Amino acid sequence: MFQTQDERRDWQENANYFIIENMKILANDLKRQYELYAPEFEQKALDVLRGGWYILGQEVTAFEREFADWIGAKYCVGLGSGLDALWISFRLLGIGPGDEVIVSSNAYIACVMGITMNGAAPVFVESDRYFNMDASQIEAAVTPRTKAILAVHLFGQTCDMTEVMRIAEKYGLKVVEDCAQSHGNHWRGKTAGTFGSVGCFSFYPTKGCGAFGDAGAIVTDDEELARKFRIFRNYGSEKKYYNSMVGTNSRLDELQAGLLRVRLSHMSELNAERVRLAGRYSSLVRNPLIELPAVRSGADCVWHQYVIRSPRREQLMAWLESREIGSIIHYPIPPYLSQAYQYLGLCKGSFPFTEQAADEVLSLPMYNGMTEAEQDQVIEALNEFREKAE
Ligand SMILES: *Cc1c(COP(=O)(O)O)cnc(C)c1O
Repeated sequence: MFQTQDERRDWQENANYFIIENMKILANDLKRQYELYAPEFEQKALDVLRGGWYILGQEVTAFEREFADWIGAKYCVGLGSGLDALWISFRLLGIGPGDEVIVSSNAYIACVMGITMNGAAPVFVESDRYFNMDASQIEAAVTPRTKAILAVHLFGQTCDMTEVMRIAEKYGLKVVEDCAQSHGNHWRGKTAGTFGSVGCFSFYPTKGCGAFGDAGAIVTDDEELARKFRIFRNYGSEKKYYNSMVGTNSRLDELQAGLLRVRLSHMSELNAERVRLAGRYSSLVRNPLIELPAVRSGADCVWHQYVIRSPRREQLMAWLESREIGSIIHYPIPPYLSQAYQYLGLCKGSFPFTEQAADEVLSLPMYNGMTEAEQDQVIEALNEFREKAE
């Protein structure tokens, strides 16, 4: 009925009757999280704009300190994006042509690009029912060329890091963690991003700790490695116009860093809100055509996405759409089957669980600032969904 949230609000102001029936619920409403703390965000933006210093300044330095403290790592280095965090990590760990990196077959495309941008080869391991790498299958994927494991913590839940670290130690492999979807969650009480050599974060606006543009960071306990990231992100330069290595331009800017500091100061309540919303879905959605997500024992989940499965996924999506409720598929095509990675030569059938997930998963509306009334509409629609007579 409405194309945009603005249209809905305009209409809402003029007609305050039967709004509940006609409300459009977006899969992810980014404006809500801004509105939650609008005066703080606006004040910070003004301060930065008026300050006259826009790249790598005191906001970045303060954010790096605060983010490292929040994660429980010694160092944080702000970067341009989550993808930059990944590819620069492999580059600085010395991983390149001829090397293999083990990664989940059920991941986001950036995870694989972070590996292949360095000329290294991804070696895929099937996903388990928690949509993360099945740790019991990692060892079979290790070869003499294996240099690292990329542990992707998808949808807000961690991999089995006890097993990942055991295998890494046994074979002398580096571990890089992709925490782009798991800001502040834990495996057995230890924060995601602090297990391996490097924890990589994206602050893309939809992420748990989202900026208002592109941004990313790494965390590490290794002082020398942190120093290399700082030099590499700024054209390989520690001292202006003196370049000690060939680097890149991947600098977190002051505006994003400042806004991220505001966001970070509210992360515990934001994560708690998502846990509460997920708990309501889990306790109130009842439909034999819908499988609810499970959380691995030992893992926290910060519910970056609330991902259900249904053998009637397309019908369910259309049903929700007919009730003005948005939903998203994460992800319709596994990276190894995408056109970009045809050259790897992996065909359909390589990872059956991952491919079945691609056909069945659906992410429900989940965002900070979602009201219970909105969520109740989603729950009602899910519970009323029936299989169409053939
Ligand atoms: C978003 C995301 C990335 C990439 O982050 P960008 O900031 O978009 O480059 C990498 N890995 C995962 C798992 C992601 O969700």
